Amino acid sequence: MSLRRFQRTALPRARGLTRRSRHTLTRHLKRAVKRATMRDCGRRCVYCATPLTPEQATLDHVFPVSKGGLHSPGNLVVACHDCNQLKGDLLPVEFFARYPWAGANFCRYARAVHRALKRGARRAVSLAYALAA
Ligand SMILES: [Zn+2]
Repeated sequence: MSLRRFQRTALPRARGLTRRSRHTLTRHLKRAVKRATMRDCGRRCVYCATPLTPEQATLDHVFPVSKGGLHSPGNLVVACHDCNQLKGDLLPVEFFARYPWAGANFCRYARAVHRALKRGARRAVSLAYALAA
């Protein structure tokens, strides 16, 4: 007997859920994630430090999803639309090397992100400033 098969049969079935109610569920979840992330980031864009309202804030994956980043709280920050566009799918190290001011703000405001990400950001920022000097 394979374990995988056992787990699959043991999963509770979401029988009563229609496509629509599943959709509202994820919408509620997304809103809750955004609220929590905003609180963790001090209700500011972590890259340019502009205070944000929930409507202006966008969720940003520090390590891009396209490069294998996770949807976990340790990888999520809030950013304004412009900074999110600016970052695109750059790796955090590439982004902070190019825009050290974003990295400096990131170290200050992105409190809840994974500490490896913060360490990488600190390193990229000090390297960028050292190269510029
Ligand atoms: Zn910004």
